[in-house]
Amino acid sequence: MRIFSAPWVVPVGGPVIQHGSIVVADGRIVDLGQRDDIVHIYCRVPETSYSCVLMPGLVNAHMHLELSHLQQSACLLPEENFTDWIDALIERRAAEKNCPGKIVAGFRTALQDQYRWGVVLLGDIGNEYFDELHGQEEALQPQVVRMIEYLGPNRDACRTALANLASLDERIGATGHAPYSTAPELLVEIKKRCNRLGHVFSIHTAECADEGEFLRSGTGCFQDFLKKKRSWDGLFSIFTSGFPGTIDYFDHLGILDEKTLLVHCVHVSDQELRLIKARGSAVCLCPGSNQFLGVGTAPVEQMVALGLLPALGTDSPASNEAIDIWREMTILGTCHAGLEDATVLAMATLGGAQALGHGVDYGSLAVGKRAEFLHVSSLALQGCRDGQQLVKELVSGGRPAEISWVSTDHE
Ligand SMILES: [Zn+2]
Repeated sequence: MRIFSAPWVVPVGGPVIQHGSIVVADGRIVDLGQRDDIVHIYCRVPETSYSCVLMPGLVNAHMHLELSHLQQSACLLPEENFTDWIDALIERRAAEKNCPGKIVAGFRTALQDQYRWGVVLLGDIGNEYFDELHGQEEALQPQVVRMIEYLGPNRDACRTALANLASLDERIGATGHAPYSTAPELLVEIKKRCNRLGHVFSIHTAECADEGEFLRSGTGCFQDFLKKKRSWDGLFSIFTSGFPGTIDYFDHLGILDEKTLLVHCVHVSDQELRLIKARGSAVCLCPGSNQFLGVGTAPVEQMVALGLLPALGTDSPASNEAIDIWREMTILGTCHAGLEDATVLAMATLGGAQALGHGVDYGSLAVGKRAEFLHVSSLALQGCRDGQQLVKELVSGGRPAEISWVSTDHE
């Protein structure tokens, strides 16, 4: 057993504790509170003191580690469509296809950076399973929820994906890519597999306005794109009956439940938000990626007003300037001035942990949670006078100068 104390303990989900302490035993938090009370109760327990802020590790609920080598992506120009960005990404990935070493190196560096910057848990969407990455999920990096993403934009691709899905190692999660690229029957099969294995089902949802047109009438740039790729073979004829939005469509397929993680949710109506809430599904916001691609801004205030606590994700360098959850918090706070700082911090921690099905272990400093937490410090944080100012600085001040993992090895 060991006590960890600091001038500030930020539990998330409870008030900030000035002059606080956390008690750890067997890798779990067993108590926390005012230092005076804790050292009185645990009078013979050794204590380690830190100089600034103890807080939970961050959660990056949506990224694509295998795209980490794709730096310096270009923003979308006003006259370009979302499918132009997809086209450019497919081209860039094809050019690097024969460089698995580069992909794996980028993957590893990104993973280490995430950990150094305070990420304890990460949701990763991949298209391939690299042998070189076997056994990489070890200490000194975030816990990774890896999900292999399936696409099936035409009948042949859908058949192949269904066959591959049937032979996928049951320890690995499967996800669908997006409503415009993954056939309805494939989405249903993936979701069934997720439910059978207790996995989270994550999917890109309502990221751009063009997706809405495709769902309402089967037309627009997504139809053009599929036709150009010779993938327009009637597989998406379901959309000719017209769905008012992506969430309605997913509900029609029966794939919305508390293990479904809806990534982006930029173009969702109030009625759809209520449906998300009613089904208990989770939302992951990617404000940096949305800003980079100019696809719009998610209705975050409405989500919060309904009682949803979204997760935050960076997406990949193919659609974001930086892969940094601290920066995502800052962007979110800037774009949505009505949001409380404590809510934004909760999104970057508790929201992500719950969305990835790891709320029992991560997301806040609370009794029973894993004793993997951060000490962060900066001149600005050291100068804070109260808890409110401190949380504001954590959310809007960018990545702190010092981030370290509290070592509980010698508890
Ligand atoms: Zn993504």
